[in-house]
Amino acid sequence: MFDGFDDALTERHVQAVWYDAALRPDGLRTSGGAEVRVADPGRWNLEAGPDFRDAVLEIGPERRRVRGDVEVHMRTSDWIAHGHANDPAYANVVAHVTWHPGPQTTAGYASLPRRCIHICLGDLLRTRPDFSPDEIDLAAYPYARLPSTPRPCETAFARSTDDALELLRIAGERRLDGKTRRLAALFVRRGDRAQVFYEEMMAAFGYKHNAAPFRALAQTIPWRDLPPRPEAADTALSCAAWLEVARRVPWHTANVRPNNSPGRRISAAAMLFAGALPGLLQRLGTCDFATRGGQRSAIEILRTAQPLGMRRAAAMLANVLIPFAMAEGRLSRAPEWIFPEELNSTARLMAFRILGRDHNPALYSGNGLLIQGLLHIHRTCCLAVHPDCSECPLVRQHAATCASPAYTETPPTSSEPSG
Ligand code: SF4
Repeated sequence: MFDGFDDALTERHVQAVWYDAALRPDGLRTSGGAEVRVADPGRWNLEAGPDFRDAVLEIGPERRRVRGDVEVHMRTSDWIAHGHANDPAYANVVAHVTWHPGPQTTAGYASLPRRCIHICLGDLLRTRPDFSPDEIDLAAYPYARLPSTPRPCETAFARSTDDALELLRIAGERRLDGKTRRLAALFVRRGDRAQVFYEEMMAAFGYKHNAAPFRALAQTIPWRDLPPRPEAADTALSCAAWLEVARRVPWHTANVRPNNSPGRRISAAAMLFAGALPGLLQRLGTCDFATRGGQRSAIEILRTAQPLGMRRAAAMLANVLIPFAMAEGRLSRAPEWIFPEELNSTARLMAFRILGRDHNPALYSGNGLLIQGLLHIHRTCCLAVHPDCSECPLVRQHAATCASPAYTETPPTSSEPSG
């Protein structure tokens, strides 16, 4: 009887309903009948993997708290049809949210991760006279529709652009200082700086999703064991990647653009490093990263060795070359300006949180140090204390001092992502 209504709906509508407290109905229950309260719907994931990350739900009368990912579909059968049942990227899904109620087959239930619940939204919304899919502005999600109230960081910083930029600058320095400390510790542990550089650069070649297997690959074939000719190095790395590394650290290949596929990146890494690492380090060692000219020279050195996009080379500059130079003592502190890397979804999300929906991205997109700051705040504040933000060190410090510099939180010293 509701076919016409349901036909107007897409999976993106259901995602918007899940994400937006103003649209999400009260009275959610699991398909088994237990009450569900959404403390946080999670971060809208614009990359491969589950639709929402780090959701917090309270289940049952005892309000049992669970934290994990959420996957949204139109139908329960889509879980298997979309191939999630055997995909480790979906192992942390704690709620499968659908529009239609079922039928939910026994096989479908069995294929969900062990503690995953199922929630049907359609049954609660079809009969509500105030709900119309036509009135959902899908283009507004996710950036324009943050959790129903502005985040406290926006309240604290969006009014003063100077304060906000100072915050990002300090946070960017903290992030690079953390990377520097980690590299310095690796110098001691490995006893081979070239190997440390090679591992960090390989992790950067893996981008966000394949940083771990690329790092494992660099440890499986250390730079000293790389064949000196690029073609032979490519073959050796490729064989090790699929025959050895893949057994320990899975490669992420779903939804990866062809240019970013692990195979292409391995070939590019072989071209850069085969028989060339000491010379490459020597040439990079002559670049003064404190200056724009020095940074541009370093980017060109990377790009002439093998085809690499300007923005990707800039990401390697910020995440590897500059911290490496700081760890070696060639650079005393983070440069005030860093050649900007591409804004990823995390940086954009943080900018919307801190600066509000109407801000001008040009404020930070032209300086890689500020982009590093956005990433650092996300990692050290949002991931740690979201959803209610009440424990956010950034906001507490600002409230305590109401003056710049407002941000003295200390970052973690290990496991910093490369990108
Ligand atoms: S946790 Fe993140 S979103 Fe919340 S106030 Fe802190 S920086 Fe802002």
